[in-house]
Amino acid sequence: MGLRVRAFTRQHIVAIAVGVLVASAPLVAFNFWLSGVIDRQGQAETDSAARRMVALGESRVGEVTRVLDDLVQRRVTTCDAVNAVALQTAALVTAPIKEVAIVGPAGINLCSHLNIAFVAAGADRSTGLDPIQRRVASSGPLAPGGGYSLDVMSIANGPQMVRLRRGTGEGLNEIAALMPATLFLPQATSSSDRFYAHVRIETRDGAVIGESGERPNNVADVFAAASQSAKYGFTASVMTHRGRIIAGNVDLKWLGLFVTGIVVVILIAFALMVPTHLPNNPVAELERALKAGEFVPYYQPIVDIQSGKLRGAEVLVRWRKADGSVVLPGSFIPLAESSGLIRAMTFDLMRRVCVEAGAVIGQRPALKISFNFTGMLFSDETIIKDVRNTFAATPIKLSQVVLEVTERDPIENFTLTRQVIAALQGMGVRIAIDDVGTGHSGLSYMLKLGVDIIKIDKMFVDSIGTDRNSTTIVETLVDLAHNMRMDVVAEGVENFEQVMHLRNLGVRSAQGYVFAPPLPGSSFLQLVEAMDTLGAEGGAYPAFSDKVAAA
Ligand code: C2E
Ligand code: CA
Ligand code: CA
Repeated sequence: MGLRVRAFTRQHIVAIAVGVLVASAPLVAFNFWLSGVIDRQGQAETDSAARRMVALGESRVGEVTRVLDDLVQRRVTTCDAVNAVALQTAALVTAPIKEVAIVGPAGINLCSHLNIAFVAAGADRSTGLDPIQRRVASSGPLAPGGGYSLDVMSIANGPQMVRLRRGTGEGLNEIAALMPATLFLPQATSSSDRFYAHVRIETRDGAVIGESGERPNNVADVFAAASQSAKYGFTASVMTHRGRIIAGNVDLKWLGLFVTGIVVVILIAFALMVPTHLPNNPVAELERALKAGEFVPYYQPIVDIQSGKLRGAEVLVRWRKADGSVVLPGSFIPLAESSGLIRAMTFDLMRRVCVEAGAVIGQRPALKISFNFTGMLFSDETIIKDVRNTFAATPIKLSQVVLEVTERDPIENFTLTRQVIAALQGMGVRIAIDDVGTGHSGLSYMLKLGVDIIKIDKMFVDSIGTDRNSTTIVETLVDLAHNMRMDVVAEGVENFEQVMHLRNLGVRSAQGYVFAPPLPGSSFLQLVEAMDTLGAEGGAYPAFSDKVAAA
């Protein structure tokens, strides 16, 4: 279970970490880039809005002053009837102008293009012909030395108007033009506009000519710009909220959507990869197969080549998959070992043998059953108890059990391994050393570990009779084994010639295709019943206790 958690969480953590990293990198980069773009673009738009407002104001003022200058030049500066047409024409053809008036010294209208005819005819200008109240809110020179004054006025205490006036050059009278203050403000400032801002235009003295849009309350996240007219001195100021720039920018919106889309695709890809990756995780797959009972024992008979009797079998694991295919151990044992799953797999195999072949083997005490036991399992004392418990309530006695030390890596804790082996031997279990002559399973191990049986590797068996050195090595091994009262099993025996050689060398037991390949349980049980009828004498390996006695 501990292993399960380890295999799962590590993979999840790695997948999620990589997913988050891969997904967040473009997001962080995009955000960084976007905020730069917004900053530059927001400020640029705000600056240019302020400049546009100044330009707009200048063009309105320019238009009006041209008309007034022209009237003064043409001396259309009195309330005489002859001036009526010129004043009315000026007001009608100049778009910003709502009224052209001749203004007296107190700033009050003497006449306008609307009532000049009546005033000229002697009517009282205050008797209903021009009843609209004009209240001057603020007044000052438009530009120093320019000859023009600018009045901010309200009409009937309502809408704000701008009045431009200049002297006529004759007496104290002035000529003036009235226009709505809104003409100084950009038209596109409703909240649904792409660029929505608070705009304000002020005179040189700070009197507000016009204002529109909502003033942002949080000035921290705001772009602000101001621009002053060099010609007329008024100032346009613009303020827009940062969020407005993003919300209003269609390009950025699409870009944001695009990047979000990419990130979502990456995240989905990772999310899909995690579940599809898990079943492909070979360790998780081994765990699943173990739980599903797909690892089954095959049995390769071990034969006494002196008497021809059956001495037992070596259990070789097979992975029998749900589709019926059978996988050889070479392709999964190394992973089972490196992942630590080998322990559970080995004990599971032992229990399966007890269930499947326990009765048949238990009835024949001379038969031995060998299990491959990875070297590293011997450096864990708890296996002593586990081995005892596994066979405790089964017909198989511990004296029938052989553990073959298979060693791919050198033994790390030699002393502990030696102690565990001794403890197992004390319970009656025999220890065999596998693949002698190859890898780490050398002579020194064989001597130091105090094993009961040596298994001579197929490599030597193959070259007996043909290669003089191999023959000598096998001879030496057999002599040594016999001197130490160890039994010898030859592996991978494929023909009778090899059987003859081994027998001549004094080898007692052999396994190999010449007798039988590893057999599934049912075939092996049939073979046992056929070859070893109950009560018949089977040869036994010498017990470790015998060895101790002889030593
Ligand atoms: P091994 O313990 O040396 O097993 C002998 C191998 O030689 C087996 O291969 C067997 O099928 C094969 N063999 C037997 N007779 C002959 C023959 O006459 N000719 C040839 N060419 N081959 C023969 P298998 O079953 O593929 O097992 C391979 C190895 O996997 C085993 O080598 C053993 O080291 C390991 N193994 C198998 N089962 C287990 C197990 O339950 N636990 C552990 N830890 N290792 C196992
Ligand atoms: Ca073996
Ligand atoms: Ca072997």
